[in-house]
Amino acid sequence: MEELIIKETIEPLGKETLRAALKINGTVRSYFSTFLRSIGYLEIPPVIYSTATDPLNHPVFDTTFEYYGRKYSITKSMIFHKQIAVQHLDKIFTFSPNVRLETADKASTGRHLSEFTQIDIECLRATRDDMISLAEDMISGIVAEVEEKNYHELLSLKRTLNIPRKPFLRIKYKDALGKYGKNFENVLSAKMSDPFWIIDIPINEREFYDREDPNNAGYLLDMDLIYPEGFGEAISGGEREFEINKILQRVSLKGQSPDQFKWFIEAASRGLLPSAGFGIGIERLVRYLCGFPKIEMVTPFPKVPGKYSI
Ligand code: AMP
Ligand code: MG
Repeated sequence: MEELIIKETIEPLGKETLRAALKINGTVRSYFSTFLRSIGYLEIPPVIYSTATDPLNHPVFDTTFEYYGRKYSITKSMIFHKQIAVQHLDKIFTFSPNVRLETADKASTGRHLSEFTQIDIECLRATRDDMISLAEDMISGIVAEVEEKNYHELLSLKRTLNIPRKPFLRIKYKDALGKYGKNFENVLSAKMSDPFWIIDIPINEREFYDREDPNNAGYLLDMDLIYPEGFGEAISGGEREFEINKILQRVSLKGQSPDQFKWFIEAASRGLLPSAGFGIGIERLVRYLCGFPKIEMVTPFPKVPGKYSI
């Protein structure tokens, strides 16, 4: 067992592919932070634990712990912190480490880790269209940057990238589901040669903080970006619910208790301005840029769902 643990965890460290991936990871981080700063975004430090974190719309193992009589959770995403911080800071981003103790079935997707980092972005008074446009600039921009700065790494990985042309294709969730069935995301991802958006996701597929479209009841003003070539989901984001009565309705629709999100609900009760934003998983992006079969190839100490790790 001991041997198995070591074999699983140090495997990426012995490989040249890891060095290339880490160089590309460096380009991603410095390009995004320079680009976002240049358009007025302020970096905020990550939150590692808090009394309220993203409830997520899929089951993960619990990470709550008690500290001086209060219950905390390790951050699954900084959604609540972003929505509150942006009220004061207008345009923010953070490199946010997330712990999501995903179930073992996720190990085979090639794109799930139980510890990963997302670049998480939020903008006050922004719309979904604004965020789609920003994300398209970031994705096309990083492909061009990696082609220029990491020419040698791409060559050694035998990876050819195309700079995706803007605007990216937008497909409505309902249409994708109707045409390709429940597994549409994987089917479409495998078929496409450029990234594309899935928009207007049904209310029950997402969490309470995604804003319902006032002109399309039951659907959200949100979006997922999907990588081509079978690499799957890249980004999730959208406009946020900001009116306290709607937030409370949505929490109760999910069968959740507002107590679970106490500080956020209290802050929202004092009044929020609308905002929108999104998160890009860094490891998934690096995996896509490298063209790797598995996400664990991009990081020296991968946490693979359901497997032992150090
Ligand atoms: P979400 O809002 O839950 O979609 O998370 C935002 C982004 O983080 C996703 O679009 C992915 O790029 C990334 N992400 C989410 N879960 C994982 C995971 N288990 N492993 C790696 N990346 C993830
Ligand atoms: Mg998502």
